[in-house]
Amino acid sequence: LEKKIAFLEGRIPQKYPEVQYLGYKERKRILVTGGAGFVGSHLVDVLMIQGHEVIVVDNFFTGRKRNIEHWFGHRNFELIHHDIVNPLFVEADEIYHLASPASPPHYMQNPVKTIKTNTLGTINMLGLARRVGAKILIASTSEVYGDPMVHPQPESYWGHVNPIGPRACYDEGKRVSETLAYSYAKQEKVSVRVARIFNTYGPRMHVSDGRVVSNFIMQALQNLTITVYGNGKQTRSFCYVSDLVDGLLALMASSYSLPVNIGNPVEHTIEEFAVIIKNLVPGCRSTVATGAAVEDDPQRRRPDITLAKKELHWSPKVSLQDGLQRTIDYFKEELSRTTFYNNQTY
Ligand code: NAD
Ligand code: UDP
Repeated sequence: LEKKIAFLEGRIPQKYPEVQYLGYKERKRILVTGGAGFVGSHLVDVLMIQGHEVIVVDNFFTGRKRNIEHWFGHRNFELIHHDIVNPLFVEADEIYHLASPASPPHYMQNPVKTIKTNTLGTINMLGLARRVGAKILIASTSEVYGDPMVHPQPESYWGHVNPIGPRACYDEGKRVSETLAYSYAKQEKVSVRVARIFNTYGPRMHVSDGRVVSNFIMQALQNLTITVYGNGKQTRSFCYVSDLVDGLLALMASSYSLPVNIGNPVEHTIEEFAVIIKNLVPGCRSTVATGAAVEDDPQRRRPDITLAKKELHWSPKVSLQDGLQRTIDYFKEELSRTTFYNNQTY
């Protein structure tokens, strides 16, 4: 018997991150689709620590069990391996609908699937919200503004999207997601929140994510050429992941139901960004090279966050310098535990 007990103890985690105790009136059951991904897993951590019951639904297309494994076995936590393109029957008070690939190489890999996830998947989640009376937050994107003709971008701007270009599966998928949200709100009285998320970065991005932050940091850490696509004059504004999570929580809690930009308005050209990263990696010997431009690459992007400040009393707190330092430390660790095989990372 003693042997059996010792065997079990070895397998049941002895300690989880500490969670608050919430009474049954305050404790909510919260569904997070895409909760094993980069943003979703950080959101799950905060919701769990606040003391809520959290259900993660993920098909692990770009997410990883490792991002949430520290909660496995906790009585407030449940993981469902499920593709949201198929209907889902669970009970929830709130839904954070984040499931969708976010990195251009990932969402372009299977454009039809990206469209299905953002259309059929969103219909399934809105239908679930209607059935159980849950409030639902849709993770939309700055990509709904396309290659914008208005700068910085306020929520009132309708965008400039090529409907048949390589990014359309994602951009138009998210635009339909928003349309679906407001159709369900009007017709079925579902309580919706829409976050237009701008470029976000931080720990738990995948080393092969393919977005600019992970590419540049991985290249700088290995003294490889930093690959700027096009002339590098295109701009982006980068938000640290904890700031984004705070914004999503504030939006869900608010009574404001129209789309809200969540992002950091500090804007840099991609060329400048390459140099910033190179300078933050001690002893980096990488050179910065420009190359072929990417088709339909948005040329300028910066959120106007006046609305988020007014309605959510939210603005980002983490500086680019601090956020990048934390992200570089994370990628250093990832690099030390990553196996490279046939140019693939595992
Ligand atoms: P991510 O790729 O790390 O996470 C997405 C998660 O969704 C993954 O765990 C993936 O496995 C899961 N998923 C994808 N398709 C699914 C499906 N059909 N069924 C179930 N699960 C599925 O991306 P992220 O950066 O964490 O982005 C999260 C959300 O935020 C996405 O909706 C994305 O469009 C949005 N967003 C992110 C950014 C950003 O910069 N990170 C910017 C704008 C919008
Ligand atoms: N980019 C780059 N080199 C890379 C990856 C991306 O120059 O290795 C550029 C890309 O062309 C775009 C910007 O960085 O102009 C941001 O790209 P990302 O894929 O991170 O996100 P996007 O904002 O385009 O969705």
